[in-house]
Amino acid sequence: MIGPKLPYRYDHYTWPEIRNLIKKQPVVVLPVGSTEDHGHHLPLDVDTFVVSSICDAAAQQIPDEVLLLPEVAYGFEDHHMDFPGTITIRDDHLLNFIVDITKSVAHHGFRKILIVNGHGSNAPILELAARRTVIETDAHCGALNAGAGVDVDEIVESDVLSHADEVETSVYRYLNDAAVQMDKAAHEVKVPVSRYYWRGTVRGKGSAPLRMMDQWSRISETGVIGDATLGTVEKGERFFNAAATELAALIREFRALPIEPRVDHH
Ligand SMILES: [Zn+2]
Repeated sequence: MIGPKLPYRYDHYTWPEIRNLIKKQPVVVLPVGSTEDHGHHLPLDVDTFVVSSICDAAAQQIPDEVLLLPEVAYGFEDHHMDFPGTITIRDDHLLNFIVDITKSVAHHGFRKILIVNGHGSNAPILELAARRTVIETDAHCGALNAGAGVDVDEIVESDVLSHADEVETSVYRYLNDAAVQMDKAAHEVKVPVSRYYWRGTVRGKGSAPLRMMDQWSRISETGVIGDATLGTVEKGERFFNAAATELAALIREFRALPIEPRVDHH
C-alpha cells in the first residue's frame, strides 16, 4: 500500500487482524466500475474512479463500520466495443467473478456484504450476484448504484442524464479537474423520448419502462449521452458529497438489519 494503513481498508490488515474484525461485523463493501469510453473529454476510468472515491469518502465517515475491498475495475461492456479502449467482461464471467468474491468474504464469517456499482450496465448482473450470495451463503448481500438517493435534479441542469454526462463530468472535474478535457466535452442526445422507451433518466420521467440496451455506437457519435458541457467542479462536489453521505447512511442501516433464522416448513 502507499501511505498509512487505513482502518476501513480490508486489504490493509493482516490475516490475524481480519480474524479479529469478523467479531465486529463491519459491512464489507465491494466497488465495481468499468474501463470504458466516456466521450472525447473523460478518461476510460470514470466509473471505477468515481465509485471507488465515493466508497472511500463514505468509509471515512464511518471507519469502524466498514471494510472496503479493492475495487473491480472492469464491467459488462459488450455494447460499447465499437469504441476503442473499452474492455468488456462477459455477463456470466462478471457474475461468477463477483460471487466468488462475496462467497470468499462470507466464508470467512462476514455477514454483511454490499456491492456498490459505478457502471449502469453492471446493475442487473450485480443484483443477481447479491441474490445468489444471499441464497448460497449465510450472509446478507445487497447491490446499489453509487449516487442512489441523491436528489440529482436539485444539482444539475440537464433534462437527460445517461453517460459521460453532466453528472459524471462534474464529479470527475471535482476529483481531478486536470484530467478532464472540457474543450472536447459534447452535448449529444440522439435518442428521442417516446412513450415507452428512452435512454438514461429524463427529468420528470425517470427511467423508461422498456428495458433495452442498444449498441452504443447506434445511439451516440461521441460516446456521450447527455450534456457534458454543463459539468462543473461545484456541481461535482455537491453530488459527490451527497452520494458519500447517502451511502454511509445506507451502510449503517444495512449493518443493523437483522438476519432472521430460516424456517424449513417441509
Ligand atoms: Zn460512466
